[in-house]
Amino acid sequence: MRKKIVIGNWKMNMTRGETKSLLTIVKESVKDNTVDVAFAVPFTDIETARDVLEDTNIIVGAQNVHTEPRGAYTGEISVEMLKDLGVDCCIVGHSERRKYFGETDEIVNKKAKVLIEANIIPVICVGETLDEREQGIHLDLIRTQVKKALADIESTRAEEVIIAYEPLWAIGTGVTASSEQAEEVCSFIRYIVAEVYGVSISENVRILYVGSVNENNAKELFAMENIDGALVGGASLKPTFIEIINAAKE
Ligand code: PEP
Repeated sequence: MRKKIVIGNWKMNMTRGETKSLLTIVKESVKDNTVDVAFAVPFTDIETARDVLEDTNIIVGAQNVHTEPRGAYTGEISVEMLKDLGVDCCIVGHSERRKYFGETDEIVNKKAKVLIEANIIPVICVGETLDEREQGIHLDLIRTQVKKALADIESTRAEEVIIAYEPLWAIGTGVTASSEQAEEVCSFIRYIVAEVYGVSISENVRILYVGSVNENNAKELFAMENIDGALVGGASLKPTFIEIINAAKE
């Protein structure tokens, strides 16, 4: 039985003061742990988030990591620095990083491996553009993204990985994939994971939907057999994020 997880992706939003205010409200409503809850916050908010959430099970995550352990990489953050701050999960391969920062499947794979090595859960994002979907090549593309991201990750560690399906046409657009479209691709991702690691491991890997999830559509998405939660952008910046967490509980 996979435990659902709802992860807020704050992107480049929230000062420390805003972090404190929102997390103080949210943590009061997330007292039981039937669902995992995480916040992938900007680096500058990690310490504040850790302080506010100290007495809770809510996971503090990051949105990026560098592949190298240390050195002359101005502006970058290493896995050791994340570990030192108490980060427990980290997004890799988000479409915005692939698009604006040239993050390739190979880089995604390296990042996933350094995170696993440090016992930080990688949240690996994969997904297609509208054009790729319309050309009918989206499943082939997703197969490639998933396989390349998982390359050389040992089967003994595979169940720690989270894979997030983000149809790019539904990111920050207000357009959500229908629950059937989302389920179709999430179940396909599980099938690919089974090709790599076997069915029993694939049954334990959590696969999330990403893209304009809100308090109105969350319940229907979470009812799908292969959707184990969501990575939530815009809607995780408001106290109504609690309603999305609650939708995952039912
Ligand atoms: C995201 O890009 O990670 C995301 C989930 O965005 P939104 O929910 O705002 O579409």
